[in-house]
Amino acid sequence: MEEIQKRDIRKLSQADLEEFFLEQGEKKFRAKQVYEWLWNKSLKNFDEMTNISLSTREMLKKYFIINHIQVDLMQHSQDGTIKNAVKLFDDKIVESVLIPTSKRITACVSSQVGCSLDCNFCATARLKRMRNLNADEIYDQVVAIKDEAETYFKRPLTNIVFMGMGEPLLNYSNVIDAIDKITSSDGLGMAPRRITLSTVGIPKMIKKMADDGVKFNLAISLHSAINETRSRLMPINDKSPLEELGESLRYWYEKTKRKVTYEYVIWDGINDDEQHARALAKFCKIIPSKVNIIQYNPIDEGEFRQASKAAVEMYVRILESQGIIAKVRKSRGQDIDAACGQLANKNEVAELVKI
Ligand code: SF4
Repeated sequence: MEEIQKRDIRKLSQADLEEFFLEQGEKKFRAKQVYEWLWNKSLKNFDEMTNISLSTREMLKKYFIINHIQVDLMQHSQDGTIKNAVKLFDDKIVESVLIPTSKRITACVSSQVGCSLDCNFCATARLKRMRNLNADEIYDQVVAIKDEAETYFKRPLTNIVFMGMGEPLLNYSNVIDAIDKITSSDGLGMAPRRITLSTVGIPKMIKKMADDGVKFNLAISLHSAINETRSRLMPINDKSPLEELGESLRYWYEKTKRKVTYEYVIWDGINDDEQHARALAKFCKIIPSKVNIIQYNPIDEGEFRQASKAAVEMYVRILESQGIIAKVRKSRGQDIDAACGQLANKNEVAELVKI
């Protein structure tokens, strides 16, 4: 007998599932029931689908698998931060973080295994990009953190940031599919304004998001508003310099009327002078925006060191004198390597974006 090649059932839309059930001589409404178990209730196996008959469950098992993630290792920081090492169906590992504050519980999730963008200050860059995450793998990270928030804090998950491993705009369709599920009533029903996508800033994708009418927040990892410095930190800037980024942000604002947040780390001897602070203030005038100044955690003995308190204060003074909102964010979860740059993730996992 020919062996059936089992498919990941969560790659099917509800309409695909309806078609499948009709082909099998079953009622169409089964699709909605199964879909709800898979997404709304995040079940990991068919046997727990209690309103589905045993024979139908057996039939589903014959054709499908559920490629659910597994939290392989969970580490708790003294400040309450939880870091998950998440194992994917092919044994690759990504990391996601729960960040609790008095008002929020934020999930920081990964969108790729590794990253191709080579930002010099980032631990993930050393892993190189292995593959994109599927939409369900992104969604599952959020569900795992939502469950941990309820278990350990007795509070709901309030915010999600795409600031983990990888560049979300280089895995656009899966990230958008995952956000659709997170915000849909079939999924977690979270408001899009509670979600922030953080990107190095890929101009053509920023314009695409604006055209697609996305409703979530946008954060840009800026780190310098001077091309020479930014290219040194982030080689992507050679391909898409600040002028092009600024132009795409103008387009974003014209279409969405949504302000943007700039993520900004100040490094000792790299961008800690007045010239850089003034360049940032000028860049911030392109569209309505605010700045998160993020504390840096060295990933090794390398060239990047946290700037002095005086340099941070100088930035805040210059930005505020020009009417720009600037918040200094403390790093979280340092003792479990869940803070800035320690995750083998993106550098900006700090106290996170508040828009
Ligand atoms: S900072 Fe982000 S885009 Fe840059 S290498 Fe790290 S994960 Fe990739």
